Amino acid sequence: MNATLTAAALTETERARILAKAALFSPPTPLTADGRRDLVGMSRDELAAELAAIGEQPFRVKQLWHWIYHQGVTDFARMSSIARPLQQKLADKFVIGRPEAATVQTSSDQTRKWLFRFRDGQQAETVYIPDPEQDRGALCISSQIGCTLSCTFCHTGTQTLVRNLGPAEIVGQFMAARDTYGEWPSPKGETPRLLSTIVLMGMGEPLYNYENVAQAMKIVMDNEGIALSRRRITLSTSGVVPMMDRAGADLGVNLAVSLHAVRDDLRDELVPLNRKYPIADLLAACRRYPGASNARRITFEYVMLKNINDTEADARELVRLIAGIPAKVNLIPFNPWPGSTYETSSGNALHRFAKIVMDAGYASPIRTPRGRDILAACGQLKTDSERRKKAGALPLDPVARSTHSRDGDKSPNPMT
Ligand code: SAH
Ligand code: SF4
Repeated sequence: MNATLTAAALTETERARILAKAALFSPPTPLTADGRRDLVGMSRDELAAELAAIGEQPFRVKQLWHWIYHQGVTDFARMSSIARPLQQKLADKFVIGRPEAATVQTSSDQTRKWLFRFRDGQQAETVYIPDPEQDRGALCISSQIGCTLSCTFCHTGTQTLVRNLGPAEIVGQFMAARDTYGEWPSPKGETPRLLSTIVLMGMGEPLYNYENVAQAMKIVMDNEGIALSRRRITLSTSGVVPMMDRAGADLGVNLAVSLHAVRDDLRDELVPLNRKYPIADLLAACRRYPGASNARRITFEYVMLKNINDTEADARELVRLIAGIPAKVNLIPFNPWPGSTYETSSGNALHRFAKIVMDAGYASPIRTPRGRDILAACGQLKTDSERRKKAGALPLDPVARSTHSRDGDKSPNPMT
C-alpha cells in the first residue's frame, strides 16, 4: 500500500471508531409510555417500513411527510387527505411528538431559551437568536446532552456526556420552536421566516453524534417538508477532523470551526481535542471541505480571552494560518458563566485584533453577546443532568473532568 492509501485507510478506521463510540451513547427508541412510536425523526425509508408493517402502501410516506414536516400537524385527525379509519389506525400505533418545554425564558433582547425535556427525562437547551435588523433569526440547536470534550472556557464542557440526541430530538427542537412562533406551514423556497437558519452550536459536539445529526439535517433539508437549504444550516465543530470530510461529502452544510488559538500548545489547553487533531490537520481538513468558496466561506470561531489569545501577534498568526481558505472569522467575546476563570478581552484588544484580520481581507465580525441575562449566550448552555447523575439517578459512570485522556475526551473510551 502506498502512503496515501495508508492514510485513507487510517482515516476510515478512525471514522469507524468514532461512529462505534457514538453508538454507545445512543438515545432510547422514541416510544411513548403506551408503546406508540414517534414518527418524527424517521427517514423516508424507516417511515415506509413502519407503514408496511401495518399493511400500508409506500405512497403514504409522501402524504405523511407533507403533514408532519410541511404543515407541522401533530394530530392525525387533522390530516384531511387521509380517511378517518386510517387516521385512527395511525393514531393507535404512532405519535407525532415534540420535546416538552420544561422552561422557556425570554431575554431583554428577545433571545429565547428553551429547556427541552425528552421522554427519558433528559434535558437539553435550544436558543432562538433574533436578527436585530431583520425579521428573522437563527435557532441554535443542541446535539448532545453534555459533551465528551472539555474545552476550558465552555460551560457545557464542565458537564460529562450523558447521551447523544436522536434525530427526533434534534429535529424536534426546531419543530417545537416553530410551534411557538406559529410558523407552520413551512414556507416554499427561500421565503424568510423568523426561524430562517439553524446553527448546530448548542450543547455538544455534533460530529461526535454524526449519524443522528446527519439524519436530522437531511429531514430538515428535504424539499417536501421543512425545506431549509443547506446554506441556511451551519455545523460548528471543535475539530473532529475525520468527520469533517464525511459531513462535507454527505451534507454540504456550512462549516464553522472553533479555532480559538493559533499555537498548538495553547490550543491543546483550551480545546483539548487539539492533542488528537492539531491545528495543521484541522486547517488541512478546512482546505479540503467541499463547496468552500467566497460565497460559502468557512467560519472560524475565536473566543476572545483576555491576555490568553488576544494579542496582535495572535491575530497576525491567525491570518497567516488561514491564508488561502475562503473564510470569515467570528470573534466571540468570552461569555462568563458561574465559576469560569477567564475574562473577556477588552474592547480595545477586540478591535485591534479584528482590524488586523479585516485588513488581511477577511470579514471579522465581533459577535455581540445575546441573551446573557438568561445564560443563553454561546458556550453558556448547561443542564443540571450532571448533578442529577451524581445523585445516582442515571446509570452512566462518567470519568471526572480532571482525568480526561490525552485526546481531550473525558469519557472512558472503550474503543482503545
Ligand atoms: N461543540 C461545538 C459546537 C458547540 S459550542 C464546538 O465546539 O464548535 C459553539 C461555540 O461556542 C464554539 O465556538 C465554542 O467554542 C463557543 N463557546 C463555548 N464556550 C464559550 C464561552 N464561554 N464564551 C464564548 N464562546 C464560547
Ligand atoms: Fe464541547 Fe463545543 Fe463546549 Fe468544547 S466548546 S466543550 S466541543 S460544546
